[in-house]
Amino acid sequence: MPRMRQRLVVRGMVQGVGFRPFVYTLAARLGLAGFVGNDSSGVFIEIEGAPDALAAFHTALCREAPPLAQIEAVTRQGMPARGDQHFAIVHSETHSAAHTLVSPDVCLCADCRRELFDPANRRYRYPFINCTNCGPRFTITRALPYDRPQTTMAAFAMCPACQAEYDNPLDRRFHAQPNACPVCGPHIWLHGTPHTGAAALLAAQERLRAGQIVAVKGLGGFHLACAADHDVALETLRARKGRVDKPFAVMARDVEHIQPFAEVTALEAQLLTNRQRPIVLLKKRAAPQSPLSELIAPGNPYIGVLLPYTPLHELLLEDGAPLVMTSGNFSGEPIVIDNEAALERLAPLADAFLLHNRDIHAPCDDSVVRVFAGAELPLRRSRGYAPFPVKLALSVPTVLAAGAELKNTFCLTQGDHAFMSQHIGDMENLETLVALTAAAQHLRTLFHAEPRALACDMHPRYLATRWAEAEAQNSGLPLLRVQHHHAHIAAVMAENGLDGSEKVIGLCFDGTGYGTDGAIWGGEALIADYDDFRRAGHLAYVPLPGGDSTIKSPCRAALAYLWAAGVDWDEKLPPVAATSAAERRIIRRQLETGFNSVPTSSMGRLFDALAALAGVRQRVTYEAQAALELEALADDNTDESYPLDMTTIGANDGTLYLLETAALLRAAAADVLADVPARMIAAKFHNGLAAAVVTLALRLRADTGLTQVALSGGVFQNVRLLSQVVNGLRKHDFALLTHRKVPPNDGGLALGQAIIASRKIV
Ligand code: ZN
Ligand code: ZN
Ligand code: FE
Repeated sequence: MPRMRQRLVVRGMVQGVGFRPFVYTLAARLGLAGFVGNDSSGVFIEIEGAPDALAAFHTALCREAPPLAQIEAVTRQGMPARGDQHFAIVHSETHSAAHTLVSPDVCLCADCRRELFDPANRRYRYPFINCTNCGPRFTITRALPYDRPQTTMAAFAMCPACQAEYDNPLDRRFHAQPNACPVCGPHIWLHGTPHTGAAALLAAQERLRAGQIVAVKGLGGFHLACAADHDVALETLRARKGRVDKPFAVMARDVEHIQPFAEVTALEAQLLTNRQRPIVLLKKRAAPQSPLSELIAPGNPYIGVLLPYTPLHELLLEDGAPLVMTSGNFSGEPIVIDNEAALERLAPLADAFLLHNRDIHAPCDDSVVRVFAGAELPLRRSRGYAPFPVKLALSVPTVLAAGAELKNTFCLTQGDHAFMSQHIGDMENLETLVALTAAAQHLRTLFHAEPRALACDMHPRYLATRWAEAEAQNSGLPLLRVQHHHAHIAAVMAENGLDGSEKVIGLCFDGTGYGTDGAIWGGEALIADYDDFRRAGHLAYVPLPGGDSTIKSPCRAALAYLWAAGVDWDEKLPPVAATSAAERRIIRRQLETGFNSVPTSSMGRLFDALAALAGVRQRVTYEAQAALELEALADDNTDESYPLDMTTIGANDGTLYLLETAALLRAAAADVLADVPARMIAAKFHNGLAAAVVTLALRLRADTGLTQVALSGGVFQNVRLLSQVVNGLRKHDFALLTHRKVPPNDGGLALGQAIIASRKIV
């Protein structure tokens, strides 16, 4: 029988996922000779043997690939047979052109979990157990190819037992780069005590039960942990962190242990147990039914819950008591990753420190998702997802986009991949800026990416914009400024695989974005593609006294909207009652003179105004708090709605539609004075807004002939509004693009910036 030989190159996420041992076993099974190895393009294979065995190999390669592998492309090339007798795994080669993907971190797998709790196993209760199918990846990887010396595990020399597993192609820890055991690997200790290992764990658990706050070094950074049923501990945590009532996430041992305090649907259970292990927003059970402290998510109908994702978490949660697990930082600062920094910066926050000596190279906060229409809607895309790329419909030049000011992530494009960074945070301080710089350097190193341009928002005072300006100056690269809402729409187009050859009707609703006219935009209808956009409609401008600083005071937004609608500031209206006569005098003067007022079309502020008017909330302590509460409150059983009028400027293709809010405000204020309950006001507002949006889309379709509607912006985290808009548009046969891969909020903005900028490079 003639022998054939072929060289294959496999691209995609094929390193650190057990791909080489899989190829080895497959080749052995089919009696093929040759070799397999990693380089920075992915995995290269040479196989030699009978033609039908080669064919079987090709089929099985994609069909039977290991669970974490994601094959994007396989190229093959014939070559003369060399008469090899055996199949081997060869050493990694470093290449200059990198086209391989880095695996995100993966939660503890079932096999390792079994071993963790098996007293006969040599890794019994070892907090760093992992294998080819699980464990740290992105957070410990310094450079590619993904090999132990390139990770923070380089500091640990494997013991003979671990080395034997690592070298044995048939072992499930073959080439598992973070492979370790109690003899040779990292260990834990409770700082300032003699306790290590099991004793440290016990001591930490004891302190948690006693109501102490324990800083726990995890996978992508430190958490601050405390008992989830301990009011005093939570009060202390809130006071120390300076966090008034922004919700905390809770880690529960398993889905069963969530049931007492939150409702879990089948789909939510699936998201909770997937290998990314995100925080999932669940419907909270109210006190007195819930055993958890009310202080975890006060006044919030939802609670963010996640399951253990590292062996250390499994051990910490073993007693079944849920723990509050919040990022180890002061509000607004990036997550702390190393021991020294933790001991210094977290000292005012934590009573104890559960440390370990496996370094974290890349900080990575927990991801957050919620369910919409039977699938995942990302709210924060970070650990477990980053740096897995968003696949683009076309290959683009390499661009680095700096992202937004709040919920910052950045984006690096390479070919048809858009690498979205982990969550960097709110760009409010030097620490976040330093974190952005380090993370951008890390991603560039990993993918050997040399940007040809930089992109940023148009807002002149964004810290991320200033960062991009400095980068551009240092590198001499061009800097492209992208309008905020255009970037949002481009992001949702890109993640839905649009190649940009057709325009869409983009509906972008958010809190704040810098408009081309200097106004604060945020209730926008754009006719857009990647190259350009035309503003075809927006919420009618209302002057916002104090500009963006009004974000913290929904009552001020309400006063502005009432004033604009010609509604008297009756003291029986909650936002009027919530402001002093002196404050109102100043606001009125600002509204009348325009002094210190910025015109806005922000949908976020309209939600704030309605929340305040309905008496739901007058001042907020975290972003979108009022809107979230208004959403949760809305009555499901009414189809009554408030009117939104539409006026036009211009004609035909250039028509600009304005959604007027005066009638809406008048009707809502009348309801408030007539003691209509807030849940009805909330429902009538959502219903009216959704209906107006559908009408607007119909008008834009009639004008332009376009049938695709793209929905983006932070307001579309509101699944009530999102569902109503989606359902309304579907009835009229629109094709819809919504977010499923990156967040609709500013955490997804960099994707759009990058795509738009990449088109401007010639
Ligand atoms: Zn495992
Ligand atoms: Zn070992
Ligand atoms: Fe935005």
